[in-house]
Amino acid sequence: MSLFHRLITVISLESSTLAHQSLLDVEGISIEVTRKPIKHLHLRLRPPSGKVQVSAPMHLTDAQIKCSLQPRLDWIRAKQAAFAQSPVAQEKSWISGELHAYLGKSYRLVVVESERSRSSVTMDEALQQLVMQVPKGASNEYKARVMAHFYRATLKQYIPKLLAKWQPIMGVEALDWGVKDMRTRWGTCNTRDKRVWLSLMLAKMPVECIEYVMVHELVHLLERNHTPRFHALMTQFLPNWPALQQQLNQSARNELSL
Ligand SMILES: [Zn+2]
Repeated sequence: MSLFHRLITVISLESSTLAHQSLLDVEGISIEVTRKPIKHLHLRLRPPSGKVQVSAPMHLTDAQIKCSLQPRLDWIRAKQAAFAQSPVAQEKSWISGELHAYLGKSYRLVVVESERSRSSVTMDEALQQLVMQVPKGASNEYKARVMAHFYRATLKQYIPKLLAKWQPIMGVEALDWGVKDMRTRWGTCNTRDKRVWLSLMLAKMPVECIEYVMVHELVHLLERNHTPRFHALMTQFLPNWPALQQQLNQSARNELSL
């Protein structure tokens, strides 16, 4: 039962507010507007497409929203251009030389096709390469699955270390954990079953950010909601969590932490 998505404004989704959604066109920029009982207008861009989402107070008219977005149009265009140029944000072509993010760094992909049926990905730190072995003629979908498997294996190796470190410090125990292909949140915590899930996408992010997400989810075992007590516990265990949260958001925006 995690509300973690509230922390990741860049790629958050609000499913409960679909009824108040509309689409606005502001000087050729398509903007998804969701009206909510809030005081101020919030603007966010979703990678990799750079889709613009706005949360607006209920009483604001379309014209008023357009008006308040006017001064930010240049910023939106610049951000969208940056997303479009980010090599890892684009649809992957799975060819050698392409950049792929791994644990917060950018690596060149080297695709090695062979007659063997075995597939693997090996990280070469010195050459900053991810060497992918695949059968001859493997499709892009196949290569994407091989990479996902590598990401998953990375996280499955790292998570037990995080749990071993943090559970005794925090005095909690996750009864089960796993890795899930979640695109809209970094992690979830089922407080009743004491089950923690981390997003597969975290394998692209810096290790300290993965740790931050794990601590966040474990804090939910002590405090279910994002209350002041929750944040006090975060500060107690991980005093620099706001910086890590920012770093994670920034990394997600770039899909790279470089
Ligand atoms: Zn949370």
